[in-house]
Amino acid sequence: MSELTELYKEIIVCQLCILSKGRVHAVPGEGPENAEIVFIGEGPGFHEDRQGRPFVGAAGNYLNELLEQNGLKREQVYITNIVKCRPPGNRDPQPEEIEACRPYLDRQIELIRPRLIITLGRYSMQRYFPGASISRIHGQPKRVGNVIYYPMFHPAAALHQPRWRDLVEEDMKKIPDLLAKLEDVQEKEPEPPQAQQLSLF
Ligand code: URA
Repeated sequence: MSELTELYKEIIVCQLCILSKGRVHAVPGEGPENAEIVFIGEGPGFHEDRQGRPFVGAAGNYLNELLEQNGLKREQVYITNIVKCRPPGNRDPQPEEIEACRPYLDRQIELIRPRLIITLGRYSMQRYFPGASISRIHGQPKRVGNVIYYPMFHPAAALHQPRWRDLVEEDMKKIPDLLAKLEDVQEKEPEPPQAQQLSLF
């Protein structure tokens, strides 16, 4: 059994925070264990909780469309969330819930070792860009060592607010160029002390 599968077994019985009390299923994440791209959303919604799979409701359908429009297949990317259990009524995840779940996401990233980490929405953005404002930094890739971090608005926000739809779609269109850029980033390049702004666009 892979280490990632072992981790899923821990996550599905986790009781580290209050979200475990109301869940039908925990939603660890899904995708190839060696995915080059990891998407990190906020937390499971109604359908995700029912099915135990990430991004399977309306936001997930939209994400699938966006991926396809940009030459990506859902099966080639890994998708997870900042919290693995559904916040009641889809409320925002609380700091202590994010903190309790943090080691699971840390371990997923360590095991998958993606080259491109795409944060969807402000909660996952805060993990890599603490204190930043998503309206200011969305669509601006940063590189740290071999990894590119790319903050985007959450697809659900675009579904609810048509004015964000164009922004989400524009940001998504840049992903193929980011992937091309990854080819240039040397596998063994030393970690720079701070994230560098990538001047791609
Ligand atoms: N929104 C998220 O952030 N994650 C999901 O899995 C589904 C909707």
